[in-house]
Amino acid sequence: MADRQPSPTIGQCLDGGLGWLEVECNRCKARASLPLDAIRRPRDTPIWKLEASLKCRSCKKGRYAPPVHMIKLTEAREITPYLWGCIRTRSGEQSGRDGFCM
Ligand SMILES: [Zn+2]
Repeated sequence: MADRQPSPTIGQCLDGGLGWLEVECNRCKARASLPLDAIRRPRDTPIWKLEASLKCRSCKKGRYAPPVHMIKLTEAREITPYLWGCIRTRSGEQSGRDGFCM
């Protein structure tokens, strides 16, 4: 990792008016827009850490889940958030719907 670009934090994105993170599952290509202000992480958490901890529930098999990558940060929701319910929760508090989880 020679190219270490500074990564914005959740707080910096929100301050800059970018409240939505669009992600895609590398395997099934499902996409979702996640509301950054609903993610229960410290505001100084870098965005890339969110990407690393997101998992697509439909592709998750036991402990393994294929990686998720972020598409872009947006000011408004651009696609249906069919799934972001469960990112509001921490372990043990999942919505039971398909989607992306942390
Ligand atoms: Zn998937």
